[in-house]
Amino acid sequence: MTALPEWLTDNRDTAALTDMLSPASSRSLETLAAESRAITLRRFGRTMTLYAPLYLSNYCSSGCAYCGFASDRKTPRHRLEPDEIRRELTAMKKLGISDILLLTGERTAAADFDYLRKCVEIAAQEMQKVSVEAFPMSVNEYRALADCGCTGITIYQETYNHERYETLHRWGPKKDFIDRLETPARALEGGIKSVGLGVLLGLSDPVEDALSLYRHVRHLGRTYWRAGMSVSFPRLRPQTGGYEPPFPVDDHLLARIIFAFRIALPDTELVLSTRESATFRDGMAGLGITRMSVESKTTVGGYSVSESKNSREKKDEGQFEISDSRTAREFCAALRNQNIEPVFKNWEPSYNGPSSSISHEIQTIRPTTPIAPEMQSNKPSSLLTPETETCH
Ligand code: SF4
Repeated sequence: MTALPEWLTDNRDTAALTDMLSPASSRSLETLAAESRAITLRRFGRTMTLYAPLYLSNYCSSGCAYCGFASDRKTPRHRLEPDEIRRELTAMKKLGISDILLLTGERTAAADFDYLRKCVEIAAQEMQKVSVEAFPMSVNEYRALADCGCTGITIYQETYNHERYETLHRWGPKKDFIDRLETPARALEGGIKSVGLGVLLGLSDPVEDALSLYRHVRHLGRTYWRAGMSVSFPRLRPQTGGYEPPFPVDDHLLARIIFAFRIALPDTELVLSTRESATFRDGMAGLGITRMSVESKTTVGGYSVSESKNSREKKDEGQFEISDSRTAREFCAALRNQNIEPVFKNWEPSYNGPSSSISHEIQTIRPTTPIAPEMQSNKPSSLLTPETETCH
């Protein structure tokens, strides 16, 4: 096996975070919450950026033990065709959504790179911001996606514990731990502007995984200091296959992780999806989280289903069950009740520009020299763009 990278076990700057993550920390949850809230307000204001996922396909060649789309599940398999994608986008736009995350499983003949690129092209014609959560790709493939209008990718390591990773990823391309670890860097090298990292909480020791996730963000930030960076904290949800999390994470620990990350990474976008309950999401809004999904469907398509006579949603299983099932309108109202402005658009497609590699520019400026801490901020897109649009 290829050796693990040194940064993965580099403890030089993790002492403060380690202390904050420990339930035995000298800093109480309330103290961390107050500090996290103040930083969030100072860096992001009273706003919440909203996006929605669109599952393009549930074909998959991998066998992740915790996933309803693993290739041994009996779930019916589909992929959206171009006219179906356009219908979904139209339905999503009616909800106010203009920031979209396109998802597929691991690379298959039915949903390969060419299919994904075509989907990005279609979505970029309709949406202000298009990101992708799919299989790991080469630098050239990421460059091609960027040229079609993709500005972000999400790629969770799931767990940074190599032994647990080996057990959980039973077969398929996703078994390659190192390849997945290196994927965000390849995306940035290819001109993708922002990467979303995360661990699937419940699979392994959550504190150890959180520390490794932090090291990954810092490692990328040192090399790709102009890149946008976001971090997600998905907790394992019930799914076809019935995998039970061996390391369950309760609300208190998840809150502690969120606050600690906000304090340790003040400019990084922190994301919370509809996996979490309405109560927990409302509680975290304004306290550290700055980006949330809204009115999500985890089936292939699903947004235009109410308009379709041949609805297949009822017999399809999603990748996992969501918890917060409020409509976009209801969710926006809940945010406003907390004096937080929901933001559906904070990105102008004209900002996308050519897919010049971020690191190429960097290497010209600063080949190997470490940068000063004050220059290591990972500015979220909301701070880079002048235009915002909110739902009404
Ligand atoms: S997590 Fe992704 S790669 Fe793994 S089985 Fe599910 S869809 Fe496939």
